[in-house]
Amino acid sequence: MSDQSLREQLVWACRILGMEGHGDYTLGHISVRDGDNVIMKRNGIGLEEVTQDSLVTLDLDGNRVAGEGPIHLEAVLHTAVYRKRPDVQAVVHTHPIYSTAFGAVDTKLEMINHDAVLFYDGLAYFDDTAELIMTREQGDAVASALGDKRVVVLRGHGVLVTGKTLPWAVYAALTLERVLQIQSIARTFGDLKPMSDEMASTVYQDKYRDEFIGNYWSYLIRQVTRAGMAPEDERAQRPSTTSGESVERAGHAPEQVIV
Ligand SMILES: [Zn+2]
Repeated sequence: MSDQSLREQLVWACRILGMEGHGDYTLGHISVRDGDNVIMKRNGIGLEEVTQDSLVTLDLDGNRVAGEGPIHLEAVLHTAVYRKRPDVQAVVHTHPIYSTAFGAVDTKLEMINHDAVLFYDGLAYFDDTAELIMTREQGDAVASALGDKRVVVLRGHGVLVTGKTLPWAVYAALTLERVLQIQSIARTFGDLKPMSDEMASTVYQDKYRDEFIGNYWSYLIRQVTRAGMAPEDERAQRPSTTSGESVERAGHAPEQVIV
């Protein structure tokens, strides 16, 4: 993980979330802080199509510093969060099914399993508007609603998930979607039986460590590669004993892999 540049990491982050169903046509975007700037996916392509050529660099006021192509209208979501939260190094904004459905209901995330514990200090909610977030003022309002939380649920819209690194932000976005799916299913069985706050705190300390996230990140990259969704340049650079064989085993000719 440590030998990946931020740009390489961002390409993987987009493809991981694309593989995991977080895409909404060409919508949804992920960014990473790079010094005084932000690198993010450009508009007009899907998450799983992102390459290093489709990244744009903006300053924290949203001005283009580098990169080609249209900028997402909601880039202000990212720049506002980075201005307000120096601890945040990566931002995911997507419209995944369960997280978006959860935002449409007056309910809360319950501490029903290990996934939920990642969010033991609660979620933030933004319900000023369900509009696209396109102005600096709207971006600032979302960042204020986020406060010091990991996630802000944008009612009628989607979610914004932060991380101290890109792998953490991606992992949190995937985990949020997973626990809300589990909570949705659990409710159909009967009344929820959440764990105590004390238990949630114990599980959090045991489960959510940087070294585990590193392992999960490496695994997710292997999964993307096996699914034939790795960026073409990455496949070319890797020895055939790793991704090359996996891609062949998956039954894809290399030129057919990128969709
Ligand atoms: Zn959006």
